[in-house]
Amino acid sequence: MLDARVTEGPLVSIDEPPKTREPDDWKTRLGRSATSVAALVDRGVLSAAELQLLDAVESRHKTFVSDYYLSLIDPADSNCPIRLQAIPDINELNDDGRIDPDPTGDNTHRVNQALIHRYPNRVLLTPTHICPMYCRYCFRKVALNEGQIRYQKAVPAALEYIASKDQIREVILSGGDPLILSNKRLGGLIDKLSSIKHVKRVRIHTRMPVTFPYRIDQQFIDALGVSHRIYLVTHFNHPRELTPLAESKLEMMRNAGISLANQSVLLRGVNDRPEILAELYNHLADVGVRPYYLHHLDPAPGTTHFRVSIQQGRTIYRDLLKLLAGPDRPRYVIEVPGGGGKVDVDSGAVIEMGQPGRYRMTSPLTGESIVWLDPSA
Ligand SMILES: *Cc1c(COP(=O)(O)O)cnc(C)c1O
Ligand code: SF4
Repeated sequence: MLDARVTEGPLVSIDEPPKTREPDDWKTRLGRSATSVAALVDRGVLSAAELQLLDAVESRHKTFVSDYYLSLIDPADSNCPIRLQAIPDINELNDDGRIDPDPTGDNTHRVNQALIHRYPNRVLLTPTHICPMYCRYCFRKVALNEGQIRYQKAVPAALEYIASKDQIREVILSGGDPLILSNKRLGGLIDKLSSIKHVKRVRIHTRMPVTFPYRIDQQFIDALGVSHRIYLVTHFNHPRELTPLAESKLEMMRNAGISLANQSVLLRGVNDRPEILAELYNHLADVGVRPYYLHHLDPAPGTTHFRVSIQQGRTIYRDLLKLLAGPDRPRYVIEVPGGGGKVDVDSGAVIEMGQPGRYRMTSPLTGESIVWLDPSA
């Protein structure tokens, strides 16, 4: 008879990951990101002449683009949709009177630095303000520029609040990008949330599969401790972002039992054509990602050049619906400014009033109406 210790010995050491392996080696790779306009000049994405021109942009809005996302830029296309989303642009200085540092009214329902409670049954938990890429159109641009969330202080207090409110069925991890947290921290957070009886689901909103797919690996899947309670919402805006690498990571998550959905933002010059969005949502359907929201852009500072009017948006959306089968259609929504919540753009909650570009929007939460002016109005 074989001695169990003898047969098990070598097997164990073969199965175990080598001790020298970095537990989070995606971090080393993320360290190669470009984090300044100067770094983008060094890499040939911007010209030396643009360095000075973009100084004022950089002082207002942070720069961070992963090596991976940079590699998707088509140098031959000056209107490359990847480039437009990632690279600082002089147009970010063109703010008009309609910008709002807090366009979705997060601060109206803020519990603390890391928690927003707008809808009775779900909360938004933002454990970080860091992202693997600062998207130039981001509605949280101002929040992301204002210092860091103090995790050790804000997150435990948020967890206590969640535990004390039994109407909260779902916790949405957002940010920043919550996947910037280490596996240990993320896993610990999900464990704590899962131990709260009334929390039935943890939803993760992340752009990491788009901007830095290397983040998704087996250690990440293990850290989630995958159960039916995990739902992950990605943020692809353009079909060119759906690379073979990104696809393989989506497949990896799907195979681990994580439910996947996608939300996009409607962006001028990036995806403001029904055929582009149809290609994206068809491709997502092919790789098992369900459609979620197509967001109308929120009027955050430094984003006016991405604006699409409500009228244009409705036309694009109606044409998009003709190109997609029922299960593949996202819902086109807009945030009622001031924290009124999300409403369908092409519905009675958004009504044009007399003059073109002037709308009345009604909050589904309070029933109150506000006036929305499109850029042209
Ligand atoms: C968007 C949002 C949610 C989630 O809303 P869903 O419609 O469930 O995706 C929750 N809380 C806040 C503050 C939000 O802005
Ligand atoms: S990843 Fe999300 S939160 Fe971060 S900059 Fe992009 S849109 Fe904003």
